[in-house]
Amino acid sequence: MTFTPPNAKKWPVAVLGATGAVGQTFIRLLAGHPWFEVAEVVASERSEGKAYSDAARWIEGEMPSVVAGMTVKSVDPARVSSPIAFSALDSSVAGDVELAFAKAGKFVLSNAKNFRMDADVPLVIPEVNASHLELIERQRRERGWTGAIVTNANCAATVAAVALAPLQERFGIAQLFMTTMQAVSGAGYPGVPSLDILGNVIPYIADEEPKLEREMLKLLGTYRNGAVELADMKVSSHTNRVAVEHGHTVCITASFHRKPTVEEALEVLRAWKGDESTWNLPSRPEYPLAVTDEANRPQPRRDVNEGGGMTVTVGRVRPDPVLDIRMVAMGHNTIRGAAGGSVLNAELLAATGRLGVA
Ligand code: NAP
Repeated sequence: MTFTPPNAKKWPVAVLGATGAVGQTFIRLLAGHPWFEVAEVVASERSEGKAYSDAARWIEGEMPSVVAGMTVKSVDPARVSSPIAFSALDSSVAGDVELAFAKAGKFVLSNAKNFRMDADVPLVIPEVNASHLELIERQRRERGWTGAIVTNANCAATVAAVALAPLQERFGIAQLFMTTMQAVSGAGYPGVPSLDILGNVIPYIADEEPKLEREMLKLLGTYRNGAVELADMKVSSHTNRVAVEHGHTVCITASFHRKPTVEEALEVLRAWKGDESTWNLPSRPEYPLAVTDEANRPQPRRDVNEGGGMTVTVGRVRPDPVLDIRMVAMGHNTIRGAAGGSVLNAELLAATGRLGVA
């Protein structure tokens, strides 16, 4: 793709919550990004004023040298000069901070739950519902700010929505039943105590089931006349924390308004490339879904890094004796389900000329 930011320079971005699990993933993904570069790192009072290398307990691989010496800033928009803020803040603070940044004219790409279901806030997975970004105009008009808040979905909802979008588009989902097996990295760092999770399954993740159920309706809903009409389907879920490092697995059973055969469902899943406006974005794999025929896949250990962590792998597509079709979907929770999803949102905003803040 030939798109370049104004003056052929990269957009400077701030990462809010830069020291946490998702914040670190942002920093890894943005190192060497063709359009964006990390200019500022922001976290809590505990980290403020420290060198990033001292404030962050780096989890994976090598810390990019470009951020190691940066001084961590506080969450005050007046002290952050970047026009774009990727937010990986804990939800207990994300509400106030993201509002303050948007009011200060900044473009906020949020991972937190706080604004996802607001009627004027886009909840976006680019391949699935790029048109929902139209809500930005309404948001700016109604809130009287020049900034913006664009959110990405809960990590399990992201995996399920990418897997289900092609089936929703073609056959219309009537009922949806999901059981998740969610990785420990989904709980942040340090997250779940090791003695609680090793050799164990925890059949409860606070607030996860309501988030998963309601976000699916918005993600798979339709943008029309300045609003998103929620998808008209019944959704039920069980969410579980399991002793897996990265990768949320979702077992899905669905019934459809136009019942597909397994072969038809497979054909649609295999061919799906998602919204055409996203086809050339740098972080996107050519096919958002990888469909496996192997009887014992997808597995987090083997499939989680497919497409640089941006591909959702689907397998075990088979008939269901209660509803119509069942299958298993798995994707990387801190990449596709968090930081990578946000970066892809920012790429789509840039490529469609909406990132008018540089
Ligand atoms: P985390 O590891 O606990 O990191 C939280 C970050 O928020 C840290 O940088 C922390 O800074 C900062 N923070 C906490 N309290 C603060 C305060 N009072 N003021 C300013 N900054 C504060 O959490 P995470 O897993 O990265 O999740 C970050 C966000 O992404 C959450 O809203 C989460 O729900 C969402 N999310 C996570 C995933 C996932 O797979 N992990 C997926 C989708 C969405 P300090 O280090 O200075 O305390």
